[in-house]
Amino acid sequence: MDTAENKETETGQIPSHAQVVIIGGGVIGCNIAYHLTKRGWTDVVLLEKNKLTSGTTWHAAGLIVTSGFTTETSMQLAKYTRELYGKLEEETGQSTGFRDIGLLQVAANEHVETDLRRKAAFNKHMGVDSHELSPKEILDI
Ligand SMILES: Cc1cc2nc3c(=O)[nH]c(=O)nc-3n(C[C@H](O)[C@H](O)[C@H](O)COP(=O)(O)OP(=O)(O)OC[C@H]3O[C@@H](n4cnc5c(N)ncnc54)[C@H](O)[C@@H]3O)c2cc1C
Repeated sequence: MDTAENKETETGQIPSHAQVVIIGGGVIGCNIAYHLTKRGWTDVVLLEKNKLTSGTTWHAAGLIVTSGFTTETSMQLAKYTRELYGKLEEETGQSTGFRDIGLLQVAANEHVETDLRRKAAFNKHMGVDSHELSPKEILDI
């Protein structure tokens, strides 16, 4: 990630040493590289055997939600992630294609309805904009 190291990797050569070597360029590896360099680590190398995000990460690219979480930790992580992705292009000049949209969950029976209401209450408690809609309102949108 350091400029000198970047130049080396751009030529296809792997640096002979580094302070940190991350193996795997999925969401976890990229995330670690981003946050380490954000905190001032300059000698970070990420090794990916195929293409960045070509592992399981690409399967999940469309679903970055703040719904369905049942612990404060997972909800905070989800909120932080959405906020981060929303400003990455401004910060790095590279577009991730991320669109900050909501989602609609439909309860097809009473059990799911009860579950969604419980999750909606938790969402609201955690500051996530969450509303219950009637069947007619769903048709309207
Ligand atoms: C079908 C499907 C749908 C999913 N949907 C969602 C979802 O909606 N929301 C959600 O949050 N999660 C979802 N997940 C889970 C999510 O995709 C994974 O938890 C996440 O991608 C894991 O990221 P990772 O970086 O650990 O692994 P990966 O993305 O798999 O990255 C690992 C990387 O390491 C590289 N690698 C492996 N070995 C080496 C080596 N020896 N040297 C160099 N590189 C190596 C691989 O090529 C790969 O790029 C889904 C998963 C799947 C399979």
